[in-house]
Amino acid sequence: MTTEIYLDSNATSVVLPAAIAAATDTMGQRYGNPSSTHATGLKAKVLLDEARACAVRLLGVGPGRLMFNSGATEGIQTAVLSALYALRERRDAGEAIGSLLVYGATEHKAVPESLAHWNRLLGLNLTLHKLPVDHNGKHSLSALRAIAGQTAMLCTMAANNETGVITDLAGIEAVLGETACQASWMVDCVQALGKLKLDLSSTRIDYAPFSGHKLHAPKGIGMLYVRAGAPFTPLIMGGGQESGQRSGTENMAGIAALGVVLAALERGDTFRSQADLCSFRARLADSLRAALPGVVFNNPFDMALPTTLNFAVPGLSSRELMDVFDAAEVRVSAGSACSSSKAAPSYVLDAMGLPLWRSAGAIRMSFGPLADEATIAAACARIERCGAALRASCLIPSDRTAVPHDGLLQLGVEGSCSWMVLDAASRSCIVIDPLPDHTARIEAYVRCQNYQVQAVVSTLPNAGRAMLIEALGRHFNRATGADHYGWPANAGQITLENGATASAIKLGAQALASVSGGTGDELRVYLLGATEQQCLPAESVRFAFSARPAQQALQDISTERTLLCPTRDEQNQFCISMKTSSPAIIAADAQLNSSALDSFLQAHPTTRLVDVREPYEFAATIAPAPAGRVALSVPLSRLAEFASVWIQEEQTPLVFFCRSGNRSMKAAQCLRRLGHQQAYSLNGGLALATPLPLAA
Ligand code: PLP
Repeated sequence: MTTEIYLDSNATSVVLPAAIAAATDTMGQRYGNPSSTHATGLKAKVLLDEARACAVRLLGVGPGRLMFNSGATEGIQTAVLSALYALRERRDAGEAIGSLLVYGATEHKAVPESLAHWNRLLGLNLTLHKLPVDHNGKHSLSALRAIAGQTAMLCTMAANNETGVITDLAGIEAVLGETACQASWMVDCVQALGKLKLDLSSTRIDYAPFSGHKLHAPKGIGMLYVRAGAPFTPLIMGGGQESGQRSGTENMAGIAALGVVLAALERGDTFRSQADLCSFRARLADSLRAALPGVVFNNPFDMALPTTLNFAVPGLSSRELMDVFDAAEVRVSAGSACSSSKAAPSYVLDAMGLPLWRSAGAIRMSFGPLADEATIAAACARIERCGAALRASCLIPSDRTAVPHDGLLQLGVEGSCSWMVLDAASRSCIVIDPLPDHTARIEAYVRCQNYQVQAVVSTLPNAGRAMLIEALGRHFNRATGADHYGWPANAGQITLENGATASAIKLGAQALASVSGGTGDELRVYLLGATEQQCLPAESVRFAFSARPAQQALQDISTERTLLCPTRDEQNQFCISMKTSSPAIIAADAQLNSSALDSFLQAHPTTRLVDVREPYEFAATIAPAPAGRVALSVPLSRLAEFASVWIQEEQTPLVFFCRSGNRSMKAAQCLRRLGHQQAYSLNGGLALATPLPLAA
């Protein structure tokens, strides 16, 4: 049974079962070419005509054109080409045309990209102009009024894909009327299909593109409406299909499926009512508020489609939220689908003037008009599960003190990292080279674990520590003074392997000792290991922290097994050892396909299966570990700690896995660099090992 809950319908939607049946029938039985004059072709032609007639009625096409094509991106090209080509002809004929190609600041990228492309290709050289939106995502009608006289083409979507915000089309039309604006007007209706009532021919809209896959039809089928009398130039020439408007043999499977969806919309017996959809949104929003304290919604519900929620949570990145939802098998997207892999701030939310944390941390949850009670209830339960997992991992506030952590924690940001040495028994820790970006995270972690920070030290003098110390408040031990490295004045003394004494801070059974990074060098290196009677023998030094390679300084006070923990980590190495000579790691060597996992485990029964996702993902996980085995949870932030033990057990194979295979590959490569030749990454991660979704 499938456990996935699909809440990303604005990206694409599950195909209606009746539409799948129609597409299958078209491929299996009614496979004719509608241009053929024999009976097989005529049967296909009937299907094509019926689908078009339904679309014409449903969208109020009136005397306008309605052509099938491959989707909205193609429809946008055709509309832009048609409008811009006509503008060029008018200009060539000596007519005055506007100078601006105006598009809403929150349009899908397909719109400005197409405008720029055809503007360049046709040599029009008009100016692309972004029409601003207000904090609710509504177009500024006053800004439009101000430029209407210069506008040659206007593009405004009917509803936004990231926020669901509904455009005031009547308001725009009124401005165009008042200003006697001659511009062609395209309205991208992709997100409006089936969710907003459309009666196109009663409006001034010239072009309206649609994509079937946003409303339960398959990908690769779309429609374009063109108002009667609006300029039209075919984008694709050839056999003259679609009355010469769009050549190429029709995608009959897609048209049949879309026809079924349109017919269902027309009958009104398949999709949920507006009131139901609003109540589903309210339930999801309530669950989010309860599970994720401080959650803010980026879209005004009263001005948006009920099927889209867009939110951010203070202190959490969109990547973290995406990961925890994905672990709980709830499919959502970060901002818009196109930018999710980059987790860049959303330009839509930026245009609405939202603060960076809300636009960079945004999550979009969207469902379709096919959503049902059971799926929404299941989604609410999963949201609760995600909240609990984040609370237990100290990522969001909790009234309970978390289970204390022990060992080493690495917090990394793009090539740099901060380290924390934790001691569960004394509930105390030391922070090494904290990055300003990590202040909030370290503070939240320390508070949630109720730890006392004994010292905040840096490997270079006068590094900025004040912000963190300030944030730590009573959790920072201010009793004694400290030097330029933050090293406490009351630190004790310890003897190293070479007989030298070093200043050291005790942390439970371990000590952190400070040594010079080299003669005349201002760099400090910190050694961490278990002490024996005021001594720190080389064998006991498990970790050495430094901002730069410091192998020289460590020579007779550590061993080959000591892990060097960099505070600069451009190559995502996590840690290296004295004997690492950075050999090129061939990725394929360290990759294990999921189909080969079972036999690998049988051949190597002692294998450790390691989940390198973060603890909140592990805690939220629904799917069983690969091969039905019990997996050890070792997030990348704890990899160094565990690696120092695993490198001593080279005969025990390690199979790392994560969501997609990306993080596990980094772990496998780290272990291989450290000399563990039996470290593997599960190719494709859990994503390729789980069944398909339950869609809302
Ligand atoms: N316009 C909007 C508002 C969209 O949401 C999308 C798809 O995300 C498109 C246009 C492009 O549609 P397609 O990729 O199906 O051509």
